[in-house]
Order: sequence, then structure tokens, then C-alpha cells
Amino acid sequence: MDLEQENRRLYRQLRGLREEAKRSQATLERFHARELELLSADTLAELLQVMTEGMLLSFQVDSLRVLLDDPDHEIRLLLNNSGYHDSSYAYLQFVDDILSINPRFGRLNSPWLGPFLTPDYNHLFQDASGLRSMAILPIFCRNRLVGSINLGSRDPTRFTRDLATDFLARLGKICGVCLENTINRERLLISGLTDPLTELHNRRYLDRRLDEELSRASRYKQPLSCLFIDADHFKQINDNYGHQAGDTALRELADRIRSQLRASDVATRYGGEEFALLLPQTGLSEALLLAERIRLEVASSPIHLDDGNQLNITVSIGVSETLPMLGKSRHKEVGEHLLASADQALYQAKAKGRNRIESLSRRISEPGTWRAKLVD
Ligand code: GH3
Ligand code: MG
Ligand code: MG
Repeated sequence: MDLEQENRRLYRQLRGLREEAKRSQATLERFHARELELLSADTLAELLQVMTEGMLLSFQVDSLRVLLDDPDHEIRLLLNNSGYHDSSYAYLQFVDDILSINPRFGRLNSPWLGPFLTPDYNHLFQDASGLRSMAILPIFCRNRLVGSINLGSRDPTRFTRDLATDFLARLGKICGVCLENTINRERLLISGLTDPLTELHNRRYLDRRLDEELSRASRYKQPLSCLFIDADHFKQINDNYGHQAGDTALRELADRIRSQLRASDVATRYGGEEFALLLPQTGLSEALLLAERIRLEVASSPIHLDDGNQLNITVSIGVSETLPMLGKSRHKEVGEHLLASADQALYQAKAKGRNRIESLSRRISEPGTWRAKLVD
């Protein structure tokens, strides 16, 4: 080959490489700047801003949507508590079960880049019109998929399967760590021992009180019972009437439960639509009666929503087994058993058709005993 020609080829190659290096350098700097912004966000609200608007600016894509898994609506509540609403973020969407969003999400171990296919991927974006390629960056938190950043482009060559994804993967990881960090910080700030939605105590409070009540029960040889109450088919309420209606229903449910309790009973919101009650000086038969009163109170009249709609709601209740009286050294074990037996009974109540009460110590709870007493 002619030397001059060979030189020109080498020169072109070098120039190409130099440009590529410059581009990688620019990409690196862009990613670096975004990472710094994520890491320096002090609050959840600020972090979500960087994860949405910030990403849009940084990637200059045609469409963006950030999905966050929020099954217990905790992130939304934390946001509400600091004066924000999920609708404050145009590019953010909370979901109750991220794995059900798209079959791809169940297998998402690393960023996925490739062609945008309508209509399969339409719901991954706010505005999917004209999109030709996309990137889905999974957000992991302790190896659990907690969200995704979906980038969409009208350019079919923008996101292709052969592109390197290490930068994107790293960004997703950083988002996960920052999310966990800001959520924890805000949880600590606001949680205290009360659940802000229902104003019942929270699970932390239950753990603390359980210890105290077990000591008291064993000192005075008094019974102690626990109820686990779970709203039936609650997901359908959210699906049919929206989350605001779901929140109203949870508040009303908490009020109806509260209305049946004595001052010494401890009512907590244990998680999403599940409540745990600790009943000092209460044996199994009394606990079953109380459970039935709560079940009836909830089922007997519909909940009225602000928009005029009415919701019929029922609960299933698990009642703990009678507490064996044991020495102090076994408190932890007994406490765990108390909660676990109520939880297991609740599971049975669900399995047997819902809107009912179960206890593992079912013998004395067969019809004709406690139900008859209630009617008296
Ligand atoms: P089951 O009878 O088996 O208990 O059915 P379910 O639909 O009640 O149970 P599942 O666990 O499938 O769904 C619980 C739903 O409760 C899903 C979640 O969106 C909703 N939820 C949990 N916390 C909140 C909340 O604070 N507000 C609202 N609106 N919904 C909530
Ligand atoms: Mg439920
Ligand atoms: Mg539940």
C-alpha cells in the first residue's frame, strides 16, 4: 500500500480515537456531575428532583419516567409530610408492585438498552409518542429492585444493545443507595412512634409495648392477647377508586377499630392495610368477642367518600393463642409466638374466605360459644 495512503488511514484512525476519548471523557464528566448531585441531595424531595428533572437535563432524552416501588405508600407519606405530593413530580410514578409492571422487570439485573416496542412499553413512559429506542436503568436497594429510570429516545440509534452500560448501572446503584439513605433519614425524623395517616401507634411502638406488657402479664399472672386485622381485597379499593380513597378508607378503618377498644388496649398500624392490637388483661374468649365486634363494626355500614361514592369494606382477623405463662428469660420467645400465632390465624381467616375470625386455639371458639355471647 502507498505510504501516504497508509499515513492518511492511520491519521484518520487516530483522529477517530481522539474524538471517542473526548466523548468518553465528556460522558464520564456528565455522569460524575450527576452522581455528585445525587450524593449531595439532603432530602428525599431534593433527591427525587435530581432523579427526574436532573436526569432529563443530563441525558437530553425525548421522554423520561422514573418508577418507584412503594407497596406500603410509605415514600408517598414521607413526601406528604415534608409538604410535597407525588404529583409535584411530573416524571415520577409510584407503583404498588414494580415486578408486575412489565415481564422484563422480573429479569432486570442490569440496564437494558434496545428498541422501543409499542404498545408493550408505552406505559413505561409519560409520553411514548414517536419513541424508537429506550434504556431502562434498574434501581436496586440491597439487591431488591426498587425502581427504574426509563429513558426514551426518538432516535433508534440512541440506545442500542451493543452500548456499554457500566456508567448507567453505576448510576442506578447510586440512586438506590441515596434513596435508602434519604428515606431512612426522613423516617427517623418524622416517624416517632405514631403512624401519620391513621394516628395510631406504629410497629416500633408495638415492639416496645410488647416487652412491657409481657413483663406485666407475667408479674400479675394476667392474660395477654393479640389481634391481627387485615383489610380484605384492599388493593381493589385503590384500583377502583384511587389512592386518596384508599387513604380515607384506612383512616375510617382505624377509627372504627379504635371505637371498640378500652383505654388500656394498644392499637397499631402494623403495615399497609394491616393493624395489630395488643390486649392486656384479655384472655382468648374476650379477645374473640372483641374481634367479632370489630368485624361487625367495619362490615355493617359503608364508608362514605368525599365524592359521594360508598365503599363496602370487610376485615379478616387472626386471634393469638392463649399465652403460656413463662419466666422472664423467655419473654422474647413468648412475644414472638403471640404475634406469630395471630398472624397465622389471620392467614387462615383469609384462606377460609375473609370477613371472618380465626384462632389457632379454635376449640372454644366454635359457633355456639363466643358468637352466642355476643348476641346476648
Ligand atoms: P387480601 O384480602 O388478601 O388482604 O387482599 P389485599 O388486596 O388487601 O392485599 P394485598 O396485600 O394484595 O394489597 C394490599 C394493598 O394495600 C396494596 C397497597 O397498595 C394497599 N395499601 C397499603 N398501604 C396503603 C396506604 O397507606 N394507602 C393506600 N391507599 N393503600 C395502601
Ligand atoms: Mg389486605
Ligand atoms: Mg396485608
